Amino acid sequence: MAKLKYGIVGYPVKHSFSPAMQNAAFKELGIDAEYSLFEVEPKDLEAFLGSLKAKGISGLNVTIPHKIKTSEYLEKNGSLDDNAKRLGAVNTIKVTGGGLSGFNTDGPGFYRSLLEDLRIEPEGKNVFVLGAGGAAKAIVMYLGNTPKKIAVYDVDPGKTGELADHYAKYFDAGKLRVVSGESEMKAVLGESNLLINATPIGMNGSDPSPVEKTLLHPGLYVYDLVYNKPYTPLVKEANSMKVHAVTGLGMLLYQGAIAFEIWTGKKAPVNVMRRALREALQQEKEDHL
Ligand code: NAP
Repeated sequence: MAKLKYGIVGYPVKHSFSPAMQNAAFKELGIDAEYSLFEVEPKDLEAFLGSLKAKGISGLNVTIPHKIKTSEYLEKNGSLDDNAKRLGAVNTIKVTGGGLSGFNTDGPGFYRSLLEDLRIEPEGKNVFVLGAGGAAKAIVMYLGNTPKKIAVYDVDPGKTGELADHYAKYFDAGKLRVVSGESEMKAVLGESNLLINATPIGMNGSDPSPVEKTLLHPGLYVYDLVYNKPYTPLVKEANSMKVHAVTGLGMLLYQGAIAFEIWTGKKAPVNVMRRALREALQQEKEDHL
């Protein structure tokens, strides 16, 4: 049998950690497959998606800037699972004889990491989401009605407004609160059980923590989506306040593990994938020294 083909499509995709993680998983389970990078410009995306079967590609991850356009394409030329349809964004495609199916594993990956790594169940909790971009939207739309309340703050009020409108189409509108200023943010954060940093603050070496240390109260749990270092500024400050905190490495791992399970129908070897991810991150760090 020919080697199975998988990969990630984006523009650009050079710095993706997915090949290291997925190829390690295929090797571990003895699956003869290769996961590659597909750098496709936005103008060529439709033609690329239309050629997947002819190219013999069995599955894909989809990343920036193609997640929304891929969802629109599959709405007409394939199928979408409920989560991807509600979100309007696809990060995983499975190609079968029947056609192309779209999924979004960002929300489920986050949820699995929340339970496994931070060990908090969001049901009935007050959740505060900092940032209202693509990652925040995937998380908020996946959490849906599960938390008691969800508060969202972004420096760009247009983004929080768009997220709130989208959320209200599917879930209890009164559950999501748009936080509109620093003082309101401080008050709402004080009543929150779980803080999620869905901004890029913390990725760069000189970044401060996105939240003042004094706002990290005992009993709060902190999930920082930033994953490019073992301890982000927010995780460090949380740790110094004895507040439980993790980086986003687990979300990256589990969104990939769930994609692997969708493609292969087999349980993902998460420990092997985690190790491959850590090595790839370490390698990237050394390359930038
Ligand atoms: P995005 O679409 O750019 O959204 C980030 C949002 O945060 C933007 O609207 C940004 O506003 C806003 N923001 C910036 N500084 C802020 C502040 N101090 N307070 C409130 N809002 C602020 O980015 P994204 O794709 O959602 O990704 C966000 C982060 O999550 C990135 O670091 C990314 O690497 C990470 N991520 C991790 C995973 C994982 O698997 N762990 C998955 C996806 C994303 P402006 O645009 O106006 O600055």
